[in-house]
Parts: sequence; C-alpha cells; structure tokens
Amino acid sequence: MTGDQRLRPGYSVDSLKGVGVARSRLLAAHGIHTLGDLLFHLPLRWEDRRRWVLVEEIEESGSSVAVRGRIMGVFSRRARRRFLTILEGVFEDSSGRMPIIWFNSRGLETRLQQAKTVVLYGVARAAPKGGLQLVNPEVEAMDQGDRWVGALVPVYPILGTIGGPFLRRLICSAMPALDDLRDPLPEAVRRQLDLPDLRTALRDLHRPAPDIDDRAVAALASRRSPSHLRLAFDELLAFSLGLAQLRGRRRMAPGPCCGVDDVIRRRAVSMLPFQLTGAQRRVLGEIAADLEAGPPMARLVQGDVGSGKTVVAALAMLIALENNHQVVMMAPTELLAVQHQAGLERLFQGTPWTPELLSGSVGTARRREILAGLADATCPFVVGTHALIQDAVSLANLGMVVIDEQHRFGTVQRRALVGKGVSPHLLVMTATPIPRSLALTLYGDLDLSVIDEMPPGRQPIRTEIRDDGARERLNQFLRWEVEQGGRVFVVYPLIEASESIDARAVTEYAEEMRLALPGLRVEVLHGRMDPSDRDAVLQGFRSGEVQVILATTVIEVGIDVPEATVMVIESAERFGLSQLHQLRGRVGRGDRQSWCVVMVGAGASEAARRRLARFADTPDGFALAEADLEMRGPGELMGIRQWGPSHFRFADLLIHHDLAVRARATARDLNNDGELPVVAEALSRYHRTEVEFSAG
Ligand code: ADP
Ligand code: MG
Repeated sequence: MTGDQRLRPGYSVDSLKGVGVARSRLLAAHGIHTLGDLLFHLPLRWEDRRRWVLVEEIEESGSSVAVRGRIMGVFSRRARRRFLTILEGVFEDSSGRMPIIWFNSRGLETRLQQAKTVVLYGVARAAPKGGLQLVNPEVEAMDQGDRWVGALVPVYPILGTIGGPFLRRLICSAMPALDDLRDPLPEAVRRQLDLPDLRTALRDLHRPAPDIDDRAVAALASRRSPSHLRLAFDELLAFSLGLAQLRGRRRMAPGPCCGVDDVIRRRAVSMLPFQLTGAQRRVLGEIAADLEAGPPMARLVQGDVGSGKTVVAALAMLIALENNHQVVMMAPTELLAVQHQAGLERLFQGTPWTPELLSGSVGTARRREILAGLADATCPFVVGTHALIQDAVSLANLGMVVIDEQHRFGTVQRRALVGKGVSPHLLVMTATPIPRSLALTLYGDLDLSVIDEMPPGRQPIRTEIRDDGARERLNQFLRWEVEQGGRVFVVYPLIEASESIDARAVTEYAEEMRLALPGLRVEVLHGRMDPSDRDAVLQGFRSGEVQVILATTVIEVGIDVPEATVMVIESAERFGLSQLHQLRGRVGRGDRQSWCVVMVGAGASEAARRRLARFADTPDGFALAEADLEMRGPGELMGIRQWGPSHFRFADLLIHHDLAVRARATARDLNNDGELPVVAEALSRYHRTEVEFSAG
C-alpha cells in the first residue's frame, strides 16, 4: 500500500502492512474480511496510560501500573523447560529500582538495548526473592515513535493468534478508512436520539481523546459511552427492522382459515373441567380472531408459571382440528411432552381428537405408524419433542404449530417445524417473564397476548430461606406436610458439568433422605434415567405412592402436579432467578398452602444472599424481571441475555434495554415513512438484518 492512496472501508485486510495470506485467513475465520470489519472489532477495555507512577509508589501485588524510566540492562537465559526463554532486567526511575521479567519475548532484548527512556505497562507481582517485580510488561520506547504513552490504550479481544500490541497497531493503521465510512442512520434519527455519528463513535472507541474526564472513562468501561450506545442502537435497529420485514413477509400469504361456530363453542365448554379466567378468555378471543381469516397467526402468549397457558393452547388447537387442519405441539423436554400428551388426551376425551406422542421414547414400530399417519393426514394431532422436526416427519396439511416454553428452543428448531407446512398458524407460549416493552422489542414479529391473572383459589406460595443448620427441622416439616397430604420436590443444581456425576450425587443423597424420612417413599428423577423409569416415578408421584421426588433440574419447566406443595431448592445460590421462579412454580398449583424452601449453601456470597432475599420477597415473575433489570448488576441471573438473540455483538439487553425499546419505535416510524428498506439495506453493511433467530 503506497502512502498517498486512501484506505477505504471496503478494502481487504491484506491491504494493511503485516497482513499476508496467513493472517488474512485467520482474520477471515473471525468474520473480518475488510478494513470496515476490522474497525468494528471493538476494544474490550482501555488501559489508562495517561499517568505513570513512581516505583516507590507501587505497593500492592497484582496492580496494573505504568512506570516511566530506564532499563538498567537485561540478560536472557534459558529456563529448564527447553523452549522457554526468560529475559530479566532492572528498571529504574527517579524514585528507585524494580526487577522485571519477561517470558518468551523474542526480539525484545535488542529493542531494549537501543531504547533510552521507556514506559512499561504491566502488573506488579511478588518476586520469588521478595519485593515486587514487573511481569511481562508491555514496553514502549519513548524515543522510537511509539504512540500510546499518555493515551487510553485500547485492549482488543484476541483473534485466534492475533492480539496484543500487534492487533492494536493493525487496527490503528486501518483507522484512516474511517473517513470514507458511510453512516447508515438517517441524520434526523441520530439527532433525535442524541447519538454520535458512526465515524465519531468508532474513532472514540479506538482512540478515546486523552483529555476525557473520569466519568467518560467510566462510561467507556461500562459500555455506556455515547459510542457504545450508538453501535448498540444500530444493531438493535437492524434487528427490529429485520423483524418488521419478517412480519411483513409472513403476512403476504393467507393462513389456514379456522372459523368458530356453535358446535365448536359447545364442545369447548364441555371439555373444560373449570371456568376460564378472564385473562384466559381474553387471550383466547385474541387467538380466535387471528385464526378466523387473513394472514397466519403469529402470537406469543406470555403468562407466569401456573397461569394456565396450556388450556388456552388446547382450545386453540381444538379450533384448528375442528376446521380439519393438522395440529402439532412441541415441548422442550420428554417429560413435558409426555405430560402434555396425557393431559390433552384427557381434555379431548369427549371429542373425536386424540393426540399422539412423538418423542425419542416412542418405539420404532409405533413411530413408523405415527409418521405414516402424519404424512397422509389420518393422524391430525401430535404432541412431541424435537423428534417432530426431524426430516422423517412430513405433515400433510399442517394448520397450526404450538410451541410450549419457547425460550427453550433455538429459532432454527421453531422454523423447522413451521416450515413443514404452508404458512400455518403459530402459537408460542412462554413463562419467561419479560417486561412488556422488551417483549415487544424482542418478539416484534409476533403479536403479544398476556395472561395476567391466576386461576382462582390459589394461595400465594410462601418462600423461606434456610441453611444447613435448619435441616433437622426441615425434615420434620416435610414429614408433617406429607402426613397432611402434601408432596415434596427437592431439586439439586447441576453440580458437575456431567449428568452422570449429578445422577450419582442425587442417588446418594436419596439414601440420606430415606433415612431421614422413614416411612416415606423417596424417588430420584434425573436426565440420565430411562424415559419409562422417569414416567413411572412421575406417575407414582401423581398418584401419591411416591411422596418425595429428588431431582436435578429436569423438572424445571412445565411439570404440573397439583398435589405438590413443597419445593425445596438445594444450593439455591447456584440458580438464576428465572430458574428459581420456574422451580417455585411447580408448587402452588392446587388449593392448598404451598412452600418454597430456599436452602443456601455455606459458601454463598453476600450478593447471592441478597438476590435470594429479593426472590423470596417477590412472588410475581414479571416483578422479578423488572427488579432484575433495576438491579442490573448480576446480569446473567435472570437470563435476560438469553431473551435476545445470542448473537447481538454490541447490544446487551441488560445495559441497553431502553435503547432496545427506542430502536423498536424507530423501526416503526421508518416503516410508516416507507424508509425501512433503505435503512435496513444501509445497516446490513455492518449488522445482520436477517432475523434467522426469531420465532417465525
Ligand atoms: P402454565 O401456564 O404454567 O403452563 P398450566 O397450563 O400448566 O400452567 O396450568 C396450571 C394448572 O392450573 C393446571 O393444573 C391447570 O389445569 C390449572 N388451571 C388452568 N386454568 C385454570 C382455571 N381457569 N381454573 C382452574 N384451574 C386452572
Ligand atoms: Mg406450561
């Protein structure tokens, strides 16, 4: 590359000095092909090299420091391990001296011998001989034209083997290409939201102005700087526009027509063992209106655990079945699929419709029969697991897809199922409590219905926090509760990454429980069991033969046993809030008082204890979600990051959820003004706008 030729964002990375075939290939493996791509590789953090300290001021081992002075001489030696070379030296400034050690720093010795004044940036650690030493510090030779002294120095995520000062230099050398970067965001939008232009945003991230104040530095560190907001906004907008386009596309084809007449209405009423709540009736009305005519339904039903989503879905399915369409319901676990199939079979008893079960546990012969029935439409109604999306499954006239606990599925799986029909109706259900504003943003291609009312007669679940000291009393309580007719779940967190070890731990603990609870039948339930054994245990629990189930988190979603009254959660600090809430939702489903006992391990941190206290105080999942957004801190806990597509690069819904809501509003405005395609096209240069991760 000759000096006078301008760099442009579209140029290949190999137009940079130092990037040959091998490095191009490495960068390409990380999705970086052009200079523009490289400029979107953002620093993870910034080292403040604007101030250096004196050697005598360094006190603590483990602190990052910048020092400025001279190297007093270096010598290298080979370590006992053959391939390791060690370079040692002494650094001196006006206040004192300090030993330095580098491991495997080829070429550094020569550089150091030539340098007069250097700035070293590194971590001070306790030296073996006592005192502190600098370990592997980065070296800047002041008199050799290095440019980072006095700056906030970006530190980039490593790209394969490309990282450190080299990557920094590389990105720095691509910076001139910024001049030609086109801003995809309309000026008016940018001004209205008070966001910087793209060029400024990227420049300030790669090279923050050295004179910014501490607040601005803190904003950078917490990813709340204007630059971060700008990039996050663009990404969220690209996402929202993608959803809007998807929605538009889906609405082009007519959906299967499903009217509701008096026959269906009478059948629905006779099926139900109880009256629908007002919320259930309202949501069912919204669904029925979607089904009647026009484009296919794409609706998300959100409702806290136990709010009664299943029966609403069942009635939606009845409507489709009565209109001679095939109906498929998919659940995330075998247990849940089995439960749904059994529950629906009971519910549909007085109708011509019987759901079949298609899951991994169904035998080959039976499976072949069901597949044949689905392919020639003699089987109109099937409930299952992922087994439903396998290639072998073909559906003759798929009219409705219902997906339970949709957050448990990847989008690819959801799409695969919908793709087995010609624009079928889609109903997805989730108990993941997302604040409404955010739900609308993340599921912008879906219409949203909320069941915000619990079936009558429910008593609030009492949540109590206990530790090991209370175990004896807990066991007493469990015995008493079972005598009163209650049933108990005890849940263990995944202790090891391996299911088999967990299974063993749970099995061993069951022995202890049996000793502590004489006369009670205690059974274990875990992911490693044969499906038929699991069914037997659950069956026993439903009928009351088994009174205590000890489980790993296989029971987390959806299990519905109204007689269960106690949920004991062991080492509760290891669970996220949403998981805890899901677990708590397994009890309190009948009319008896239920308890959730949160056992805290001895090693739980203060923050974890506070979180659990919050959980105990907050019975409502939506309030918990809001609380978590408000607390912000321990981000992963509520699983908020999982709500969104996992591949947001710049946006973080915990940090940027307000921005997400604004992005959605902007998308809507752009759509109304007819500007959507233009902006989507412009954004797609830097962000993904195709929404393969959404529900449809
Ligand atoms: P979720 O919304 O968590 O999936 P379910 O659909 O499993 O909840 O329903 C929880 C329990 O409440 C079930 O036992 C169900 O039969 C019962 N239920 C649902 N709706 C009503 C209602 N309107 N009146 C009484 N009980 C209901
Ligand atoms: Mg459910």
